[in-house]
Amino acid sequence: MTGGEKRRGGGVKRKIVIYLVVFVLFVLGLLWTFQILLLDGIYSAIVQNTLKSTGDTLVRAIENAKDEEDLTETAQYLAKENEMCISVFRFNGGTGYSIADVHINSDCVLHTLNAEGLLRYYEQAKKADDGIKITRLTPKKGGGGFGAHPSSSLPDSVIYTRAFEMKDGADAVIFINCAMTPVSSTVRTLTVMLLWISVITLLLAVALAYFIAWRVSAPIADVNREAKNLAHNSYDGSKVRRGYREINELSETLTYAARELSKVDRMQKELIANISHDLRTPLTLIEGYTEMMRDIPGENSPENMQVVIDETKRLSTLVSDLLEVSRFQTGKQTIYPAVFDLSEALRDTVSRVMKLYEPDGYKVILEAEGCIYVNADKTRILQVLYNLIGNAANYTGDDKTVTVRESVHDGIVRISVTDTGEGISEEDLPLIWDRYYKVKGTHRRGVGGSGLGLSIVKEILLLHGARFGVSSKPGCGSTFWFELPVAKEKKDAGVGNQE
Ligand code: ADP
Repeated sequence: MTGGEKRRGGGVKRKIVIYLVVFVLFVLGLLWTFQILLLDGIYSAIVQNTLKSTGDTLVRAIENAKDEEDLTETAQYLAKENEMCISVFRFNGGTGYSIADVHINSDCVLHTLNAEGLLRYYEQAKKADDGIKITRLTPKKGGGGFGAHPSSSLPDSVIYTRAFEMKDGADAVIFINCAMTPVSSTVRTLTVMLLWISVITLLLAVALAYFIAWRVSAPIADVNREAKNLAHNSYDGSKVRRGYREINELSETLTYAARELSKVDRMQKELIANISHDLRTPLTLIEGYTEMMRDIPGENSPENMQVVIDETKRLSTLVSDLLEVSRFQTGKQTIYPAVFDLSEALRDTVSRVMKLYEPDGYKVILEAEGCIYVNADKTRILQVLYNLIGNAANYTGDDKTVTVRESVHDGIVRISVTDTGEGISEEDLPLIWDRYYKVKGTHRRGVGGSGLGLSIVKEILLLHGARFGVSSKPGCGSTFWFELPVAKEKKDAGVGNQE
């Protein structure tokens, strides 16, 4: 194996491992980002949202409250629900007095602020566009100012201040204080847990990736190894480990290809043997007869001459069949369809064939419908007819009878050629259309075939898009048939017998 092949061979495995590890790293990265890095930010955003919605509810409650008692009740409910402390002040002139005051946390920061401190928050809120000021108070950040605790012993918390105007035009302010659960200890716990989870997940991912890679690549490697034998027409699918559906299908396709290759190989070997035999027989006859006519006076008779002519014709038919097959093989053969009277063509063909076979006692019966027109390549269809009738005569039974039938159903004309011969066995039936295929020892008229006739018939009918087939039972003769659509254009109005 070359270096390049080695590099290509490692592809699937390495890629699966890389993809899976990258995926796991991505998931772990997401976990770390959200659980550790953004935890504090997300938590404080949630708290701020709760504070804002509580503030909104309070403002609505203040507007709708019947009296201070009613307002205090709502404030108590909200404070309990959200674990917050709430103070609401109303200003009369320059003086503010409390209209609701609920404290559920003993270490509420609002208690520790004096009037001056609260006023400062109020001023800040008033300056804001929406009248809201949210301040995070963290311990140990120096004493006094905004953003830091007045006392470092108090917990981490947030103060929400909202300045607004009451219905009667008086200024009012809402203070809400909410303690923040310390995130740092949670982060520490999560970090340790995530570290373990990351290590375990990564190890499992690598192990899983290697396992999947092995499961996928092992059958591919088997197929590859076995496919190398295709060059020698052998492929052993049983040595390929069962993997995934696609790989099983590939293995089955290769098994089929190997079978077809060996079939073609066998047929070609048979063809060479057949052709050599088929060429040698007439050549020997020609050689023998011409030598005889040259050397023996009086043997230069028209009968002997006819033998030489017949054998030469046989040779030329064989060679033209071979040329035709090779043209079909290379896809160079085309058809030139035109509307013609198929019934008339049938009558002509049968009468010509009769002239040829009658002296040997053969009978070709025609059961035609009338004047059926088809749009097809007349020369090629005649070639099909000659082949099928010729075959039927070659293989027909002792009564030496061949029947050619023309029938029309639903705008389709079917031509069938029936003989009374030994028929074709079930296993040979699908094979007779193959190139070079000959069922051994079946010729009756002593005319050796090349095994190409039916393959040419098949190619011509395929080019026409025609349906065709054969039905046969050993001992009961065979019927070869093909179908063509009846042409709509007719040469004359007197076209009859069509359904
Ligand atoms: P060949 O030139 O040998 O007749 P074909 O391609 O025409 O080649 O036919 C292939 C094989 O199919 C023949 O060898 C023969 O065994 C079988 N076959 C064709 N037509 C008939 C038929 N009418 N009856 C029985 N066997 C037939």
